[in-house]
Amino acid sequence: MFHQILRPTLLFGSLLVSSISPSVTAQPPDTRALLDEAREISYQAHWREAQAILDQLAPYIDQAGLREYADYQLLQARHLALDDQTEQSLALADQLLERNLEPDQRLRALQFRANIAVLLRRYEVAFESLSEALDIEVDVDDPQPVIATLNMAAYMFGRAGEYERGAEYGQRALALARETGQAQDACIALQRLAPVYKWAKQYEQAKQTYREGISTCGEVGNLLFAGVHRHGLADLLRRDGDPEAALLLSEQSIEALDDGVFTLGEFEARLIRAETLQDLGRLDQRWDEELQQLNVYFTDRALWDQSARLHQLKSERAAAAGDFELALEQLHAYNEARESFLGRERSMRLAYLQVEFDSSLQRQQIELLRETARAAQLEARASAQQQRLRTFGWLLAALIVLVLAGILYRLQVSRRRFQELSRIDGLSGLVNHTWFFERAQAELDRFNGDAGNSGRIVLIAADIDHFKQVNDEHGHRVGDRVLGRTARRLQETFPEDALVGRIGGEEFAVLMQVDDVNHAIGFIERFRNTDQKLMRAGDPPVTISFGVSCAKPEDDIQTLRNRADQALYAAKASGRDRYEVDSSCGI
Ligand code: GH3
Ligand code: MG
Ligand code: MG
Repeated sequence: MFHQILRPTLLFGSLLVSSISPSVTAQPPDTRALLDEAREISYQAHWREAQAILDQLAPYIDQAGLREYADYQLLQARHLALDDQTEQSLALADQLLERNLEPDQRLRALQFRANIAVLLRRYEVAFESLSEALDIEVDVDDPQPVIATLNMAAYMFGRAGEYERGAEYGQRALALARETGQAQDACIALQRLAPVYKWAKQYEQAKQTYREGISTCGEVGNLLFAGVHRHGLADLLRRDGDPEAALLLSEQSIEALDDGVFTLGEFEARLIRAETLQDLGRLDQRWDEELQQLNVYFTDRALWDQSARLHQLKSERAAAAGDFELALEQLHAYNEARESFLGRERSMRLAYLQVEFDSSLQRQQIELLRETARAAQLEARASAQQQRLRTFGWLLAALIVLVLAGILYRLQVSRRRFQELSRIDGLSGLVNHTWFFERAQAELDRFNGDAGNSGRIVLIAADIDHFKQVNDEHGHRVGDRVLGRTARRLQETFPEDALVGRIGGEEFAVLMQVDDVNHAIGFIERFRNTDQKLMRAGDPPVTISFGVSCAKPEDDIQTLRNRADQALYAAKASGRDRYEVDSSCGI
């Protein structure tokens, strides 16, 4: 991540700070000289040796002038940071900044504090320091701290999504370096500027800047930064679809960076090489170890952006090999890393906005307010949308329930209707053959099952006499009317609780419970006298023969019917228009 990228700036950027401001106040010569020496050693050799010199100076430093004191403390703070005592380093820088420092030293202290704050991810402190540093007017005789501040501003504002501002600072740093003939600083400024163009998606500008960086850094012998520029360019060429050129550049970059001084640069170059090899279909098993190393490096350092890219690469590789399970797993890891990266970007942006707000510039205040308002608006829109969705969901559910209920109701109605239709005979309106015998059997069962029942079950079979003749003489329509008339006569004559059905063409049946079979015969007699009543003009009168049987306890409906039919035949046989009673009725 960027703080890792900044660390080299802290190290290498300052490496180039060779000019030491001349001492203004008279000091014991040893203090100034020792500080100069310590500074030289700190940047050129190892900081621990420099720290030994500082330790020697420690008893005298309080008596020294402010410039020496400030130089001493800044070196001290630098060593603490290099010793991983970052918090203490920041505290020391804070202390120093409370003093009334001269502009150049204040600038350097602020720039240092900004660097350390980034390492600690205290972005607000970083932006605060940076804003203050950018406002300091310093003597152009010493452009180095100004260039360093502008470089850092380019990077930080770029990361916070303020590309235009970031690019502007980067361009200013570059211009100042060139004006003052600081080729080394120009090399570094180009390295800060190029990624800002990349983040701003100004790819052509970014490529141009990297190319310039390669040549500028190469000219001044800064092979390390030339290497960094190379993999920056490699990344863009790879995205452009020029993997061969990208591969060559990344290999060159790795070669320039593999001396262990700037490992992040080296690992980034190795990541780009792996991505390029994957594009070329050459990332075979021999690279497993390499990918593992990259993974450990990026994960250990919480370099989420690079981690995400690595997981994406592994996912593509697994998918290409047909291992979709691994591909999916890597895709999940990619998402997680990407989330972490974006989270960091967001906190950076937020810190930037907060600092801008604090600096009480109207423009930025409005921006933050606008940003907040936009966020609130988005949130409100989201929750309104959610509410709408919920309401819609309920409405939809209610609608579905209603529709289903409607369908069910109609189905129920149709079912009942079909059921009725399936039981009723359309011509006569009486129950049909099937339903009559089903109901009759059920009635018989009910009667037999109830021991307390008195009376009897009687079945009457009725058949219109010579009905064929009616059809033949008057036609079927008239025949149908006679059938309907007969049905109505039966229904009107027999009691309501009697079951009356049409069990054949011109055959009817009545099942009834009576105390005495003579009651049933009484109804038959009554019926025989009703024919004229319902007759339409022109319709022929008909007579009907009846057979009556009475249920015995062991009877089922078929036995009962057979006996009724036999009685009916007997009635037909003995001249029709009469009834016969089966012997089961006992009369
Ligand atoms: P019987 O006195 O011996 O009962 O003589 P029948 O003519 O009534 O008896 P048969 O069984 O020979 O004839 C029954 C006739 O009933 C034959 C058929 O055409 C007629 N028929 C049956 N169903 C219907 C119907 O739904 N409509 C009409 N119009 N005629 C029907
Ligand atoms: Mg018949
Ligand atoms: Mg008949």
